[in-house]
Amino acid sequence: MTLLRQALRFSSPLLPFICRRCRTYSTQAGAVKRVISAFRSVSGDEGVSVGSAVREQHGRDESVHSLYTHFHMRLPIACFPLLGGVCLNLRKMDQVLDLHQEDFDVTVEPGVTPKGLNSYLRDTGLWFPVDPGADASLCGMAATSASGTNAVRYGTMRGNVLNLEVVLADGTVLHTAGKGRRPRKTSAGYNLTNLFVGSEGTLGIITKATLRLFGIPESMVSAVCSFPSVQSAVDSTVQILQAGVPIARIEFLDDVMINACNRFNNLSYAVTPTLFLEFHGSSKSMEEQVSITEEITWDNGGSDFAWSEDEETRGRLWKARHDAWYAALALRPGCKAYSTDVCVPISRLPQIIVETKEDLIRNNITGPIAGHVGDGNFHCLIVLDPNDPDEVQRVHSFTERLARRALAMDGTCTGEHGIGLGKRALLREEVGLLAIEVMQEHYRRYSALDFLTTRCQENKVCFKF
Ligand SMILES: Cc1cc2nc3c(=O)[nH]c(=O)nc-3n(C[C@H](O)[C@H](O)[C@H](O)COP(=O)(O)OP(=O)(O)OC[C@H]3O[C@@H](n4cnc5c(N)ncnc54)[C@H](O)[C@@H]3O)c2cc1C
Repeated sequence: MTLLRQALRFSSPLLPFICRRCRTYSTQAGAVKRVISAFRSVSGDEGVSVGSAVREQHGRDESVHSLYTHFHMRLPIACFPLLGGVCLNLRKMDQVLDLHQEDFDVTVEPGVTPKGLNSYLRDTGLWFPVDPGADASLCGMAATSASGTNAVRYGTMRGNVLNLEVVLADGTVLHTAGKGRRPRKTSAGYNLTNLFVGSEGTLGIITKATLRLFGIPESMVSAVCSFPSVQSAVDSTVQILQAGVPIARIEFLDDVMINACNRFNNLSYAVTPTLFLEFHGSSKSMEEQVSITEEITWDNGGSDFAWSEDEETRGRLWKARHDAWYAALALRPGCKAYSTDVCVPISRLPQIIVETKEDLIRNNITGPIAGHVGDGNFHCLIVLDPNDPDEVQRVHSFTERLARRALAMDGTCTGEHGIGLGKRALLREEVGLLAIEVMQEHYRRYSALDFLTTRCQENKVCFKF
């Protein structure tokens, strides 16, 4: 972290220098060389990479957005260099720092993943349940306000981060809830922690996160249930939640998605709208949860439950769910996946999913649907040929219609994937101009990354700690 702080201090004075010198924001190869040399003086030659293979590896993610664009104006510092710049790779900052078993909290460095943390916690009876299933880092998850399949019971990153250590643009270090503090709740001042959760790397670099932990439930059991229609599967979800069943996971897969999962994972579930469910608790409470849930699903025409009780079978089931992205991609080899998500108040779910499926069919778009329906949140994992401009245009129009459909139902244009590049205009529609101006004020105050306006191509650097 000291290295990171030093590095940002080294680089920050160069940012205004580059800008002042080049009002037109053209590339200053000399200035970039000086930045690289400043980084090397902090972390050594090994810690800085300008090789094209490494830059290529860090210059893209799973999305369809192209990352290499024009030229430098200023030098963006990012964990993921959307428009080029310096890429900070924090994976080697991977220590679990402070575990307070009795208080159910832990502090981690940015490279720790949920899997790594849970393996560290194995003998403590505790676990961290938020897991988007994408081998993400916990601080990356804080940056994107990630959630995933367990959120219906345990909440999202927003509710599970107690404190963050953040290195700001000028290299100063902010502790969002006060240094070393880890109360379960606070009403002291603004909630700065939640300002940084979901800030997608635009306000600073998160170098430590203090997280809530939970007791591992006495037992866990998973089940799969097939339904005759989307409406009956989603109605069941709503009724299960209305009945107060503390369900741990309730995931919807439409017929296209379950077919893709079957093919990708060698499974043989019925190709109809399906719910994957998981119950956590004591044996007694599980009996009650299961019996209420079965009654509701039967009333809605659902099949008998296919149970997965032992850890291995449950693991296989949830792996199939977490592999949904790759299963969708395999439907059209050679194509790219374009994931979009929306979230609506739960009572609006049946209507929005039914309308969205009709829209997909009408526009001849391959878009399996998988949803964390217990939260009113679902994804369309669209598979498209990026070289077919007509298809790209159809998909673009579809995703805008989907987001506006969610907004019209009092929802949001993204439940967990964030705004990124693609949804900036929709964010304006969602929160209004005044809220955007307040966000921009924060951005100007905190940020080093002229993220939305910077361009670069040649001089991307991966900076490793
Ligand atoms: C196959 C797949 C399935 C997914 N499923 C889900 C899901 O079910 N639910 C869900 O919520 N999400 C899901 N996601 C999204 C996932 O949550 C995010 O990709 C993940 O949280 C990002 O973490 P990361 O460590 O990979 O960050 P990166 O991809 O490296 O970065 C993501 C963003 O966070 C910023 N960032 C990263 N680390 C830091 C840091 N230390 N400080 C400041 N900013 C930082 C980056 O600048 C960037 O803007 C899925 C993603 C994939 C690829």
